Amino acid sequence: MRAYSSHKDIIKLVNKVDSVGLVPTMGSLHEGHLSLIRRALSENEKVIVSIYVNPLQFNSSDDLKKYPRDIKNDLQKLEALSDIIAYVPNDNEMYKKDKKKKKYNFGQFTKIMEGKMRPGHFNGVGTVVEKLLRMFNPTNAYFGEKDFQQLILIKALVREQKLKVNIVGCKTIREDDGLAMSSRNKLLNNTERESAGHIIRLLNKARELYKSSTLEETKRNILKDALMIENLNLEYFEIHDTSDLSGFFEQEKEIRAFIACKVGNIRLIDNVTI
Ligand code: AMP
Repeated sequence: MRAYSSHKDIIKLVNKVDSVGLVPTMGSLHEGHLSLIRRALSENEKVIVSIYVNPLQFNSSDDLKKYPRDIKNDLQKLEALSDIIAYVPNDNEMYKKDKKKKKYNFGQFTKIMEGKMRPGHFNGVGTVVEKLLRMFNPTNAYFGEKDFQQLILIKALVREQKLKVNIVGCKTIREDDGLAMSSRNKLLNNTERESAGHIIRLLNKARELYKSSTLEETKRNILKDALMIENLNLEYFEIHDTSDLSGFFEQEKEIRAFIACKVGNIRLIDNVTI
């Protein structure tokens, strides 16, 4: 692994390489990130892992300030992997003087769930991901299904901007009790961590209920159950046919249940196919 803070140094290293994988992250790397990185390594000659906490995608300065950062540890985790290039830019390198969100219009799916709860978030994500894709022109770029709406957004962006990159969606990696791995999990105290374990229980329960109940019955049952969980405040629980979420790309018809909640002060999201 080699780490660089300037994209120009990295471009020199990869411009003669057959295939380049890009894994954008905000750091505090965990097994979820590492699974994307391993997949990228198995499918590309070189892999660029970007580590950058993108201020443009945060809705509050407090959330941005609290977001866990652990660059030393991150680089240590990547140390053992050859063919990895870590890109660790600062704000100036990433945005120069132009730290502004680009305004995208990807229709309906950016107006529900995360798009509704976090206004401007997807414009911030789109801005940084488009910059990274144009900077490195990777063959493949890897994103987690844990942030499913984000994955759809990126596919829509690539299609609309006619970028030549293959977007690869990767399965969600979970803790032993099923909690989706997230950099934010380390901000939970012990009782909050226990409550967070209920998120996957609710999603699994929804899957069972939906086999024999209507959408409304399933929702009602899950909302009632969530009310009983200590420290957990549900922001939304929704079920969607993912092929309806965007007119921008076709994908297999698939029904997914989505949850966003606050556990204590920490906001967590997850989703499963049902
Ligand atoms: P983040 O650092 O949270 O922005 O995540 C960087 C990438 O890793 C995104 O594409 C996420 O969807 C993905 N990711 C985060 N957590 C997980 C997980 N538990 N399993 C799989 N991918 C994940």
